[in-house]
Amino acid sequence: LVSRKTHKEDTVILLPQDVVVGGGASLMVAGPCSIESEKQTRTVAAALQKAGVRVMRGGAFKPRTSPYDFQGLGMDGLRILREAADEYGLLTISEIVDPAHIEPSLDYVDIIQIGARNMQNFELLKAAGEVNKPVLLKRGLAATMEEFLHAAEYIMSRGNTQVMLIERGIRTYEKWTRNTLDISAVPILKQESHLPVLVDVTHSTGRKDILVPCAKAALAAGADGIMVEVHPEPATALSDAAQQLNIDEFNTFFDEVKASGLYR
Ligand code: PEP
Ligand code: MN
Repeated sequence: LVSRKTHKEDTVILLPQDVVVGGGASLMVAGPCSIESEKQTRTVAAALQKAGVRVMRGGAFKPRTSPYDFQGLGMDGLRILREAADEYGLLTISEIVDPAHIEPSLDYVDIIQIGARNMQNFELLKAAGEVNKPVLLKRGLAATMEEFLHAAEYIMSRGNTQVMLIERGIRTYEKWTRNTLDISAVPILKQESHLPVLVDVTHSTGRKDILVPCAKAALAAGADGIMVEVHPEPATALSDAAQQLNIDEFNTFFDEVKASGLYR
């Protein structure tokens, strides 16, 4: 079902408010790593609306490396995200980590995110495949293209055809970036599959100083969208403090990406 061999045309995903993913239009997905408070979320939402962003991200269920780190606000976080997004006319995307949370999340998210650590959580993939809601599937930390596409196939095989793929960097020996952005994944996924392909420049690089060239490279390689983390006060963030852009930095980033002519 994911293969371009049997489905030649690009899949275009229709979101509420006439927002489309794929089919030639670029999508910017931005927002904080974690939903931390109403104030933090509303501040970002206001900035995104002003910048012309349509889809806001924000994690409520956080898959943290350490069990002692901030785990997210859970369903309260989803509610805060929804309320802020509605106030500013934005759509929402948030990671779901438990199959039992797929149904309850449907009122709060316009896109279900499946995180890198759960790319092969097959029960979660099946649960996401049972609902009528777009899904953004992140590439696993060490997933091959074949494994990634098979994970997408799990979702689609259950009936949900609204799947988007996102390259978010893979583990290599390189330490100067958090992960290694595999830019070749973009043209390969576009060739092998008809699904929209995005690139998460924040988690793939883990550094703010190379986001613009990486976003341009992603778009030049054929990506349908970019994901980036934005926080009103990154230094105080409860997760990923080092890699989130502040609002001014985001505006500069987005302006430069648009000025490249690659963002359509
Ligand atoms: C995220 O986008 O919030 C996230 C945790 O990213 P990843 O699953 O790619 O690590
Ligand atoms: Mn993050």
